[in-house]
Amino acid sequence: MINSREIADLHPKVAVLCRAFVAHCKAAGIDVLITSTYRDAASQAALYAQGRTAPGAKVTNAKPGQSWHNWRVAFDFVPLLNGKAQWNDVRSFTRCGEIAESLGLEWAGRWQSFKELAHCQYTGGLTLADFQAGRTLP
Ligand SMILES: [Zn+2]
Repeated sequence: MINSREIADLHPKVAVLCRAFVAHCKAAGIDVLITSTYRDAASQAALYAQGRTAPGAKVTNAKPGQSWHNWRVAFDFVPLLNGKAQWNDVRSFTRCGEIAESLGLEWAGRWQSFKELAHCQYTGGLTLADFQAGRTLP
């Protein structure tokens, strides 16, 4: 079961964007921690079970193959203050989201449904169906 927070586990193109994101946030005065990158099918299944057939609160509506993390094109982050994760710091999340967008990433803080301040992705215009069919970023 793999639930990685290593940038190197992302698709190479997304890894470059993720590293640039971390550097640009730092330049803007915000340290960020990457909390999730690649998640394999077993790990996604366990996450999906949470709040359904397993204890805990529901954390995702994505089954295996339905999360962009399963295809190595998404990462989650959290702003840090003095080394501590600031999960409720909407202002810093938003500033980081704007930085992500300036680099060409999609920031889930803009999404109308399943809005997620911590989530960024780069799909290159591909859909989940494309990835499921074996396509990937060039
Ligand atoms: Zn995510």
